[in-house]
Amino acid sequence: MTAEPPVAGRAGDPVVVALDVGGTGMKCALVRPDGSVVHAERHPTGADRGPDAVVGTILDVAEGLADTARAGGFTPQALGVAVPGVIDEATGVAVWSANLGFRDVPLRKLAAERLGLPTALGHDVRAGGLAEARLGAGRGTRHVLFVAVGTGIAAAHVVDGSAAVGAHGAAGEIGHILVRPNGPRCGCGGIGCLEAVASAAAIGRRYAELSGEPGSTAAEVVERAVAGEELAREVWSSAVEALADGLATGQALFDVQTIVLGGGLVRAGRHLLDPLRTAVRERMTFHREPRLVAATLGDEAGCLGAALLALDSLET
Ligand SMILES: [Zn+2]
Repeated sequence: MTAEPPVAGRAGDPVVVALDVGGTGMKCALVRPDGSVVHAERHPTGADRGPDAVVGTILDVAEGLADTARAGGFTPQALGVAVPGVIDEATGVAVWSANLGFRDVPLRKLAAERLGLPTALGHDVRAGGLAEARLGAGRGTRHVLFVAVGTGIAAAHVVDGSAAVGAHGAAGEIGHILVRPNGPRCGCGGIGCLEAVASAAAIGRRYAELSGEPGSTAAEVVERAVAGEELAREVWSSAVEALADGLATGQALFDVQTIVLGGGLVRAGRHLLDPLRTAVRERMTFHREPRLVAATLGDEAGCLGAALLALDSLET
């Protein structure tokens, strides 16, 4: 666990408690209504202990944060929790999460009972998209598509500061758009999904297959491509082309002003953004070309988004 002592609050300053629960770690914070973080902690998720233990840890950590807030002179007003998978935000149920082993966990109810605070439950990528749209790289634009490219690929479509959830809590699965009909099989069971071709994991896997060097990572592929290695350049550019196909589909559907790219792959910086902008531009016919920018909140986006969900829940 890492923790910083909280900034002292003036008597009763309001904060919300925010948790972003990932497969390996939880990012947690106390956040003021203006989005500023007064205290942050990280904890291991311990997903291998099973879903009940993970729920127990989430509740313990949330309660501990609320106590920390009070000890620092703040008043915790609400709790926001972001988790991966299929999340029914209306009922506050984590319907399904492969990473956490969740199936129909009524997390909002459990947390509200334990902490006695209004609680919002959200999806990790949608929460991250919300934060990037309102506080990060999409700030100032009304229509934003946030696309996280890491081990997988997922998106959040944010309009006027709120992210579309979908009828079944599964909006934004841009990683499972078909981009290569004869492509590799995807983890979802489909063939040629964007995620199976252009995620960081897929790029590393493809390079390893072709080079015979197991364990290659996307970061190494970019590095080698930049250094001029032919095979790495081919693998990288075919991933960029596939990503552009996916983003062009996203733009055809959503007509956004800004596409914010997040996740691990964006660390490639201009080696990703420059060719990707060109490839997206080539695919625009009558659609307007979106502004394509890197995320600015890094791995804190999901936690800040959880805080925004908590704050929003106080307004309605
Ligand atoms: Zn898929």
